[in-house]
Amino acid sequence: MKTTGDQQLVKRINRSVLLRLLRSQSGLSRAQLAVESGLTKSTVSLLVRELIDEGWLTETDVPAAQGLGRPSTPLQIDGRSRGLIGVEVAVEALRVVGVSLTGQVLCAQEEPLLGTQPDEVCRQTARLVARTLAQLAQRGVQLAGVGVGLPGAFDEATGVLRFAPNLGWRNVDFVPLITQALAQAGVPPVGVHVQNEADTAALSEYEFSDGDAQDSLIFVTCGAGVGAGIVLNDRLFTGIQGMAGEIGHSILQIDGPLCSCGRKGCAETFFGARTLANLPDPAEGGHYLGVVLQNLWTTFNPSTLVVGGPSCDTYPGIIKTAQQTLQRYAAAAGMAAPPVRAARYGLLASAVGAAALVLHHALRPMHTRTPPAPARLLEDETNSTAPTTTTA
Ligand SMILES: [Zn+2]
Repeated sequence: MKTTGDQQLVKRINRSVLLRLLRSQSGLSRAQLAVESGLTKSTVSLLVRELIDEGWLTETDVPAAQGLGRPSTPLQIDGRSRGLIGVEVAVEALRVVGVSLTGQVLCAQEEPLLGTQPDEVCRQTARLVARTLAQLAQRGVQLAGVGVGLPGAFDEATGVLRFAPNLGWRNVDFVPLITQALAQAGVPPVGVHVQNEADTAALSEYEFSDGDAQDSLIFVTCGAGVGAGIVLNDRLFTGIQGMAGEIGHSILQIDGPLCSCGRKGCAETFFGARTLANLPDPAEGGHYLGVVLQNLWTTFNPSTLVVGGPSCDTYPGIIKTAQQTLQRYAAAAGMAAPPVRAARYGLLASAVGAAALVLHHALRPMHTRTPPAPARLLEDETNSTAPTTTTA
């Protein structure tokens, strides 16, 4: 029987259901998966076999207890066979990481950006990805996909980078450029996903969460600029042109200090890296960060708030100050503030999150736009010959 497009989608959805169940409840057996998913036992067995063969799942051998029949075998996400490559194109540097499906950083490299033209950036990125791929291959890890985080507004409907002021990019058709560069560097065709780097940073915490990030999470990046990556209702929220989360330019004071964007009183003028460096006690800038966290909390009601970026590395005290400020506002309203914590992957958050972006799409086949060819991430890639690129 020929498999139709609809059946392929149903299969991808069913596979993603099993993977997500095992991510939240590691150790479930095939029988338990059937109960939890509502799929038949035979469908579960078939899909689990495929996912094991492709390196997405592993099973633990359980010795058979005498007289009790065949024991149920616990299944887990395979943290060793398949890997993801994540790239952060930062203004000053290029960071590339190899990450396991369970969020372990297997290798990482960083280089200063050699040029800022889009084709130069793509060529340098492709070289580093090829090197990372070789490192993964040495560990016997097979590539499942590549994700890229860019320092600007990325329009996921068109695949166009709208505006990256610090690189001087406007309306760059990035996906074809990077796909071509990767092919020229000898990287085999895999799904390539692209997103804004603050958004990918949020996914580093959400997709590789150890349970505290459920349904929604906001990641605030503090550096020269201030931005937020927002996960709402289990999906990345990017806005109509990829500009959601530009909280650095939310106004904290009417007619306040002049901002680089032309407005007055933007959040960035109170705790952007340049302002912090000029404060007698940079940690005091954390009060303004706390105001922004309070506003994000009341607007989106996330389960968790995460703070990262270079300023947290330089002045770790700002997180504590921000937390205290948020708690004061919460106490005044007689409420409990959501937990605030430092980014788990530190300065690698955006690169690790770019790798997580690949998973984010693979586990949500219904929400992923797949023109012109479907991402084959959850299918057997060994037969695929054509590049399967999607626009995030
Ligand atoms: Zn501004």
